This record gives sequence, structure tokens and C-alpha cells, in this order.
Amino acid sequence: MADEAQAQLSIANPEEGFARRLFQSYYERCQPEQVAPPDISQREFGLGTWDKKIESRHMAFRDSQALKSYLVRNTPFYISYSAAYYEFPDGRPMPRKGWMGADLVFDLDADHLELECLGKTHPKKFPCEKCLSAVKEETLKLIEEFLVPDFGFSKDEISVNFSGNRGYHVHVRNGTVRELSGWARREIADYISGAGLNGKSLFYSRFKGKLEGPTPETPGWHGKIAKRFLQLLQAGKLAEFGVEPVIAKRLQKSMAKVIEGVGRGNWDTVRMTGPEKDHLVEKLIGSAAIQIEGMGKVGDEVDVGVTFDVSKLIRLPNSLHGETGLAAKKVASVDALASFEPMNDAVVFSDAPVRVKTGEAPVFIMKNQTFGPYKNQELELPEFAAVYLICKREANLWK
Ligand SMILES: [Zn+2]
Repeated sequence: MADEAQAQLSIANPEEGFARRLFQSYYERCQPEQVAPPDISQREFGLGTWDKKIESRHMAFRDSQALKSYLVRNTPFYISYSAAYYEFPDGRPMPRKGWMGADLVFDLDADHLELECLGKTHPKKFPCEKCLSAVKEETLKLIEEFLVPDFGFSKDEISVNFSGNRGYHVHVRNGTVRELSGWARREIADYISGAGLNGKSLFYSRFKGKLEGPTPETPGWHGKIAKRFLQLLQAGKLAEFGVEPVIAKRLQKSMAKVIEGVGRGNWDTVRMTGPEKDHLVEKLIGSAAIQIEGMGKVGDEVDVGVTFDVSKLIRLPNSLHGETGLAAKKVASVDALASFEPMNDAVVFSDAPVRVKTGEAPVFIMKNQTFGPYKNQELELPEFAAVYLICKREANLWK
């Protein structure tokens, strides 16, 4: 270990020192390519400490080896990099960097979803299995229902990684995306989040006495609404998504006729009043849209004054998250996302026993083992669970 690193460890509190030594051992094991983003020499990096998630930025590394050496020697608790490419990534202030383009990045967090449990039945800092699976579904939806069919990106141009805590990051890299302005990125995000979408415009006028509307094959949002409606109808979940129970029941009863009608774009078979239909469409937009970091909710007016930040920093894939000790693990491919299990696949530490005194923690599952609930308990935990609680400031080392 370098002297500099040794000196840093000795001044830290025991928990910080423990976590840092583990983080350091992880970076020692990493191949340089594992933690290096594409075109590393054109990226800006930002770092965070035990006490502060973002402490500094404007750093640059000439290659993957330089980055790895830095991680081993200085071991930050957070590291993020720019979606943007710069001529001089360490230049400051920002205009001196020479912006050359940026990947398109989406940040999905369980916190953006309206979940019944997060922050209600359990604290926000301990996402449960339901939270993690809901945000994974949302990420799949973004890719399978928007990025691939509507924008025409191929799955090879899309890479996904776990955020290291409660969500996923989706990176789209290709020549066209790279040159998009902040305004263009904003429009893409508005489209995906359904911001400013007017449900009433989705139905066409009466033609020969019948109400014409979208079919599941209609391109773009129109088709999404029809598709989502039939999906929820067939799954018997309309009421769950805010449709009046009486109406949901009625639709359920005449399901075959409704499916046949909507398949032809004849929404008269849905037999609802105008206001009922407007309400239904609003709910369907909400359930088909994606909640993205920094974007409004469905039905909000589009805030035309806000452009998309083209110089933001995002967690470095495969780096560690200082609030969990989990890796911001890169998922092998878009198709592998469905079977990715963060509390298993993003765990990088061993099961060597560590004695801790806990604070408060609800039940959590890691590596298929159930832990907790805990309240001021002295016990022995596998290293990966001990570091998880220590990073969440809900455990101290105990002799
Ligand atoms: Zn939850």
C-alpha cells in the first residue's frame, strides 16, 4: 500500500477506515477496462468522500491504467464521470473544456416511482425487493417500449448499469445522439415521460357515427395507450390503475367485444362517457410513461424554460457506491437485465465474519440470505452485509 493511502487510512474513523480498505481491495482486483468508460481521456470525473457525495470535479485520466491506479491509491467513496466528451476535460471553468458532444443518459430511481412502500412502510435508504424490481421493470420499459421501437436505437448502442443504490442508469452511445443539443435531449425526455401530453387528442373525431381511436399498432403514444389499455384489461388490473371499479367490472364483462373493437380502432365498444374516457386515458398515459430524474410528472405543463443538462456527471459503471458498498454493476447486455438481481449480482465483498453493533435496519436480503430487522444489536455479519450497514451509517464495528 502506498504511504499516502496508509496515512489517509490512519486518520479516518474506524468505520470509514474499514470501508475504505474494502473498497481499495475491490479496486485492486478490478481490471482497468472494467472501470474505464469508453473514450476515457475525453471525460471529466467527479469524486465524493465519506461525508460528501460530490466533493470535487474537473478531474481527468489519460487512460484506464491511470484511473485504476488512482482508485487504488486514493479510493474515493463515490466516483462519477461526464456523459459529455471534452477536448480538455480538466479545463475550468466549464466553457474552457471544449464540449464535443455527449451520450444520452437516463437516471431511473425507485424514488421517482410512486411506490406504496418506499419511505412509507420502510425507510428510503433501505429499498426493498419490490422497490428494486419496480425500478428494473421501469428500466426495461424505457428500453423495450421507447428507446428501441420509437427512437430506433439498437440494443448494442444501449448499456445499462445498476446505480449502486436504488436504481439504474441507461447510457445510449452513437454518433447521432452525441451531437444532440440540450433542447433536443429535453424533448426526448419530455416524450418519454409523457410531459405535456394531452389525452383528449388521442381520439379521433366521430366518423360515420363511431368514435375512432388508436389501435395497438398505431405508432407512438397513440398505440401505447391502446396497448396499455388492452394489457391492463386482460390482466384484470384496470381498477388497480385508477379506473372506477364499476367501470372496470363492466369492461371486464364485455372483454372480448372491447378487445375486438379497440383492435379495429373502434372505441365505441369501450362504452364510456367522454369524461370517463378522458380520465382513463390520463391513467393510461401515467402507467405507460417513464419517470425520469429531473422530469415532471404526466399531466404537468412542459417547463419550456428548462434545458437538459449536457455536462452532468453520472456514477462510473462498476465503481462502488459509498452509501451501500455495492457496485454500480454493469449489466452484461440489455437482454440480461430481466434476470439481473442487484442484491446478489452487485455484491462484491466476502462473507468473512465481522462483528458489529447495529443501529436500526428493516429486513433486507443479500446473497439470498435474509437479515434483520435490527435495533441496536451486537452480532456477527458477513462482510458484505456489515459494510452495507456501515455505509448506511446503521452499524459500527464492535469487538
Ligand atoms: Zn419497497
